[in-house]
Amino acid sequence: MRTIALGAHVSAAGGVNNAPTNAKQIGATAFALFTRNQRRWQSPPYAPETVTAFHTTLEASGYSRDVVLPHAGYLINLGSPDEEVREKSIGGLTDELSRTIALGLGMLNFHPGTSKGELDEKATCRRIAQGIDRVLQDVRDDRERPALLVLENTAGQGSNMGATFQQLAMIIEASTHPDRLAVCVDTCHAFAAGFDIRSEEGWNSLMDGVIATVGLQKLAGIHLNDSLGGLGSHKDRHQPIGKGEIGIEGFKAIMQDQRLDGLPLILETPEEDNWAQEIELLRSLAE
Ligand SMILES: [Zn+2]
Repeated sequence: MRTIALGAHVSAAGGVNNAPTNAKQIGATAFALFTRNQRRWQSPPYAPETVTAFHTTLEASGYSRDVVLPHAGYLINLGSPDEEVREKSIGGLTDELSRTIALGLGMLNFHPGTSKGELDEKATCRRIAQGIDRVLQDVRDDRERPALLVLENTAGQGSNMGATFQQLAMIIEASTHPDRLAVCVDTCHAFAAGFDIRSEEGWNSLMDGVIATVGLQKLAGIHLNDSLGGLGSHKDRHQPIGKGEIGIEGFKAIMQDQRLDGLPLILETPEEDNWAQEIELLRSLAE
């Protein structure tokens, strides 16, 4: 029997405690959520009732911490050449990691960032790693398995880091807390960055790359998105599964890959009303 943890990035509108319920409603066995308003620098702290309600709902819905992959806000850029933006980013990620821990969760996914061309690749990765280290120093997590910061690969739009797994590995190696870092593979970003995952062979070649750079044990989750942009287009534009340039064969290879069993597989596709059907479709591809 395979354990497939599959779901979507569900809404937390009205309170984070609504996210597990929203996930349950679409038949998800995993989910993602924003820990706070993703388009603002500041959000009020959680009311204690909200945290309690989240714990209760999560447990009642049967989700373990290992299948929930919170996503940090889009403003965060640990590589920013602008000191003010970088400080706000470190503060923002610190707050989001604290929220992740308060919710009893074990991972926080974020985009590595960019120095907007002001630094070379190596120096940018070092700057991002130093930002990560400050966040991890500022947030206490005494649990047996402390929370991980999960670096997502990117489409490589502009000069964003993370278009290759070598870059993610460089960030991890430059950090003084490599054991607290992991990676998430977004299929749309990978395809747009030039990984041809339209076939089983292509998917396996991406996985070989993950294994050779960051290592399989660091793979913490997958974002399942088809791509509007073509191979190597560097466009971060998600499409519903099977309706983009990757196509069904690629997703079949992913769903058949037992190395992903138990990891949160998260849809971030644009047509929310179809998530239940997309989950069903993906489950059928795993059979
Ligand atoms: Zn993603």
